[in-house]
Amino acid sequence: MARYTGPVCKLCRREGQKLFLKGQKCYTEKCPVDRRAFPPGQHGPAQARRRKQSDYAVQLREKQKVKRIYGLHEKQFRSLFERAAHVPGITGENLIVSLETRLDNIVFRMGFAASRSGARQLVRHRHVEVNGRKVDVPSFKVRPGDEVAVRAKSKDILPIQAALEARTRPAIMDWLALDEKARVGRMVRQPTRADIPLAAQEQLIVELYSK
Ligand code: SF4
Repeated sequence: MARYTGPVCKLCRREGQKLFLKGQKCYTEKCPVDRRAFPPGQHGPAQARRRKQSDYAVQLREKQKVKRIYGLHEKQFRSLFERAAHVPGITGENLIVSLETRLDNIVFRMGFAASRSGARQLVRHRHVEVNGRKVDVPSFKVRPGDEVAVRAKSKDILPIQAALEARTRPAIMDWLALDEKARVGRMVRQPTRADIPLAAQEQLIVELYSK
């Protein structure tokens, strides 16, 4: 699957807010969103001056924002949405919960990586196992009771050590449990939308895809 390799700070500037795509560095480095508060590109400043966005533009930006936070491409995001629409419950909430229970996100939430892109790399490079079995698929769906651990040979690699040492943000959530020393975590229960600290209006995404 192709992945975005351009400058991630541009993505934040495009959405007009901090998406914290660089993990801990976002708290320690100067953030371009503060320094240049307008979209990137030649017409960025003019776009920032424009007064009103259409409903479509608002919905599109919300979808792009969530997609970028979780590091997905349109095809992956759309197919997650289709699946969320076919399970009982509120589609928008189902979508956010399914994004949140992806293995790369769980590795990030447990603090084994400083960012979701770092977590995805750990999974891809086979540093992670689920219930004792090696899993290298970032989109793997973690279920309640599943144990997510760093593999024995990788427990002391530098990126994991550094991420755990800096793990004040984000703090571990109550639907996850973590034994930091053993590098083992567990999903205690299925998260609800209220458990997920994501400032997004998922209803706008549902409206966009329902057109
Ligand atoms: Fe986004 Fe972090 Fe870059 Fe700021 S420093 S623009 S929050 S990725």
